[in-house]
Amino acid sequence: MKVYIQTDIEGVAGFCFFEQRRRSEYEVIEHRHRMYRLLTAEVNAAVRAAFDAGADEVIVNDSHGSGYNILFEELDSRCRIIHGRNCSGPHWLPLLEGSDAMLLVGMHAMAGTPRAITAHSKWEINNGKMYLSEGTMACAIAGDFGVPAVMMSGDDKVASEFREKIPSMETAVVKEALSPYQACSLVPAAACGLIYQKALKGLERRKEIPPFKISGPVTLGLFDSDNHAPPFQLIGERKTAETINQAFLDYERAMPWCPFDQEMVDGFQYP
Ligand SMILES: [Zn+2]
Repeated sequence: MKVYIQTDIEGVAGFCFFEQRRRSEYEVIEHRHRMYRLLTAEVNAAVRAAFDAGADEVIVNDSHGSGYNILFEELDSRCRIIHGRNCSGPHWLPLLEGSDAMLLVGMHAMAGTPRAITAHSKWEINNGKMYLSEGTMACAIAGDFGVPAVMMSGDDKVASEFREKIPSMETAVVKEALSPYQACSLVPAAACGLIYQKALKGLERRKEIPPFKISGPVTLGLFDSDNHAPPFQLIGERKTAETINQAFLDYERAMPWCPFDQEMVDGFQYP
């Protein structure tokens, strides 16, 4: 069994915002490193559950920002980790194909979600027929590959979105969002214990959890962090059932920060 673990940092227990503003540089860096340690522990809990559920291959995608958030020298030695510049590879979730299940750790709510922690970005499907957070977008891409998303972790607000779209998947609510800047979190040991149990259960039930598929044709848009209208043009209507992944690729390629197939500043040319 091959298990793919998609990760972000904002949904980790103990995380509220990216850094303590107006403090010294040292405190900002120290705060970030604390968050990295919390994320690493939660990912390790999911990796351990995957191997205990019978996985013989586990791939972790360090998918937040720089792609250097997980302290991989502290990661379970049985897994491999994708790191580095997010979205610069062949697609958003490299090496996903052929996986038997997906786990998602540290998910956050979509832009505009009231009282959620660091709610940002919102994918618009077919001019507003549906909206996806980054996490459920990952599930839809996995669905295109026939891979079921069986467990997610994050705050209670993003967990509601997942439950609404994929009712049979396991949700590990590691914190209750009280405002965009305040949460009531489980302490790390309890959060990791919950993620372990839910991941194990989700993987055991993976054949009962259908892949999350969005049928075509599809157009995509993206709302920014402030829930403003898509700053980029909608592109790529796809008429086949395998729609989201291809439309996402077309969309991402149009993004100024994701120059697929283009020359990078250091002169590197993607194949
Ligand atoms: Zn993130």
